[in-house]
Amino acid sequence: MLAIRKPLQISKILAQHKRAGKAIGFVPTMGALHEGHLNLIRAARRENDIVIVSIFVNPLQFGPKEDLKIYPRPLKKDLALCRFEKVDYVFYPGLSDIYPKNFSTYIEVKGLSETLCGRSRPGHFRGVTTVVAKLLNIIQPVNLYLGAKDAQQAAIVKRMITDLNIPVKLKVVPIVRDSDGLALSSRNAYLKANEKRDALVLSRALNLSKVLIKNGARDTKRIISRMRSLIRRNESAKIDYLEIVDPDNLRPLDKIIDKALILLAVYIGKTRLIDNILIKV
Ligand code: AMP
Repeated sequence: MLAIRKPLQISKILAQHKRAGKAIGFVPTMGALHEGHLNLIRAARRENDIVIVSIFVNPLQFGPKEDLKIYPRPLKKDLALCRFEKVDYVFYPGLSDIYPKNFSTYIEVKGLSETLCGRSRPGHFRGVTTVVAKLLNIIQPVNLYLGAKDAQQAAIVKRMITDLNIPVKLKVVPIVRDSDGLALSSRNAYLKANEKRDALVLSRALNLSKVLIKNGARDTKRIISRMRSLIRRNESAKIDYLEIVDPDNLRPLDKIIDKALILLAVYIGKTRLIDNILIKV
């Protein structure tokens, strides 16, 4: 495995592989790797000749009051995990490698970026799409791997790929959870032991919605209201949003007909966690 910092260097190496007819699979991350990331890496490993993982904590996707400064950066451990998973290249650029002086070009997906997480984190998705577009330009993979954990992000990147004719195939990999149901996230590291217990309320609320729908519930207002009361029973949990939307366009649904994406963001103490479930009836 090679760890490379410079965009030009990785582009050159990968161009050689492409000329030799190798399929390149790309997994973008912000590091602090856990089983959720490793699951993406394994999918990429199965389906490609060359696997590249990027590690870059992208300041552009953090708001001024968010956790950029304290975001975990265990680079040595991340590199060891990548090596163990037989990753071929880790691309870990520095800030100025991605954002040179006078940087002034941004990619923005209208509409989809303005709802859900976009409402509470203005500018977040503009930061995500700008960095993903740049990484795709540098790496030019055949396959791009994203997690269903960030369902809105995946929908937005899919839109961007189509709208900008980016020649890459997007693969969305299912959410990996702890045995108790908590969706794995690098931000779970912020949770104290009691908060970790409180955080189970997210997956419990999603499971409740699943049961309600299985038992015939279709009215989204009623489902949301049941989920909200379950979450409210937990004093340290503060709901940021809880919505049931059409997975294709992220617009809120009144009634569930064939499929629904149920998403929520909840503060547990100071930590903001997200989770979701895709339901097909
Ligand atoms: P991050 O490092 O948080 O930016 O995440 C990098 C990629 O890993 C994104 O595509 C995430 O959706 C994905 N990911 C993070 N956590 C999980 C999880 N628990 N299950 C599946 N994918 C995940």
